[in-house]
Amino acid sequence: MSELTFSIIKPDAVKAGKIGDIMKMISDAGLKIKATKMIHMTQAQAEGFYAVHKERPFFGELVEFMISGPCVVSVLEGEDAIKRYRDLMGATNPNEAAEGTIRKAFGAGIEANACHGSDAPETAAIEVPYFFSNLEMVN
Ligand code: UDP
Repeated sequence: MSELTFSIIKPDAVKAGKIGDIMKMISDAGLKIKATKMIHMTQAQAEGFYAVHKERPFFGELVEFMISGPCVVSVLEGEDAIKRYRDLMGATNPNEAAEGTIRKAFGAGIEANACHGSDAPETAAIEVPYFFSNLEMVN
């Protein structure tokens, strides 16, 4: 079944000039880009986006990192897109990520790990409309 997932190319990867490389990996994996834009998140946007992590010790630093520069947010579509994009991203810690994954190639550490992808359909259903309206998505 075709589904949508939400992706962020995080500020570390944007700063390192890796937008094109990561978009190519996404396309080569057969995921369709339904919408994409560059944004520089406000503190409130980043705190809202990561609200599920607000009790975690790394929350404050994670928010600071996410607002440290622009990022590229996208909506991806495809068969089993959520799992396929998570597989392409690799493990949260780039040191544990498999060869050929985005985090292995471009992640610097557990925090600056190059990308975000929704982890479940319920999460994608919140994350996609957090940054995109229906009008911004191609059919
Ligand atoms: N993170 C962090 N320290 C940690 C764990 C996670 O800074 O110990 C950051 C990291 O950028 C990660 C994000 O918080 O991508 C969300 O964590 P999650 O466990 O949801 O990992 P993900 O779903 O992104 O792989």
